[in-house]
Order: sequence, then C-alpha cells, then structure tokens
Amino acid sequence: MEATWQEQLRTVGLRVTRPRLSVLQVLAERPHADVDTIVTAARAVHPTLSPQAVYGVLQALVSSGLARRIEPAGAPALFELRVGDNHHHLVCRSCGAVADVDCAVGAAPCLTPSDTAGFVVDEAEVVFWGLCRQCRVETPAETAQVLQHDNRGGTIA
Ligand SMILES: [Zn+2]
Ligand SMILES: [Zn+2]
Repeated sequence: MEATWQEQLRTVGLRVTRPRLSVLQVLAERPHADVDTIVTAARAVHPTLSPQAVYGVLQALVSSGLARRIEPAGAPALFELRVGDNHHHLVCRSCGAVADVDCAVGAAPCLTPSDTAGFVVDEAEVVFWGLCRQCRVETPAETAQVLQHDNRGGTIA
C-alpha cells in the first residue's frame, strides 16, 4: 500500500514524507474522518506530529487532488481518499454516520440545473440527510414521530 501512496505523492508533485504517509494511512482506514479524528490517529503512530502539521498535510493532499474534503452543513469537514468520481454522501442526522452513494442518476454531474447561467457544470455535491439503519432501529417510534412533526413544522413555517 505504502509504495502506491509514495507513487501517488510523486505523481502529484508532493515529496514523500512520513507525516504524509501517516495521514494517507489514517484516511485509508477511516473514510470520512474529521480533522480531530485524523490528528488523534496520526499522532498515535507519530506522537511528535503536531496538529498543525496534520492540517498542513490535509491541505496539501486536498489541493493536489489526492484527498477530498466534504462539508455537510453543520458538521465538521470530513476527508476521504475516494476522489474524482463525483460520488455523493448519505449523512445520518442522529449519529453523523456517513456513507458513500454513487452518482445520483446517470453520469456526472448527476443534477442538471434548470439554468446554468452560462457556467459549464462538471460537479454536483449532494448530501442526502436521514437516519442511518442503526439509528432507525434505536430510535423509539415516539421520537421518530417528533422528528417527523418537526419536519412538517419546518415546511409550514
Ligand atoms: Zn445514525
Ligand atoms: Zn465519500
């Protein structure tokens, strides 16, 4: 695995460094991890790694296209290594679990705006919100009804 990451780093013009390899390893093991999780996991392997260094590595990986940053509304930014396929995300309102979902319909960008205002659109970022399987099982019917009621209230207001 590490050999591949070294090649990938070189391909995008980044020097191969231990911190970069560590962060790549963490991202491979924990898709959709937030910064705190990545810092903690990377420092477990490299205690000398500062949070600032980890932020720097994430920044470099994202701007070079090796990693992708997603930002579900109201949630911390999440990072993943699955890039370039215009995939979307399912996010659980209750526990924050994130799952990948392939292109919504047909080829990227999946959504066709009614008016592109002259833009050439090549990507659409879609977040589907709901309750994950686990939370649906754990959520008592009463709470589920309250949630539904809240949703209706929101629509009327
Ligand atoms: Zn959940
Ligand atoms: Zn993803």
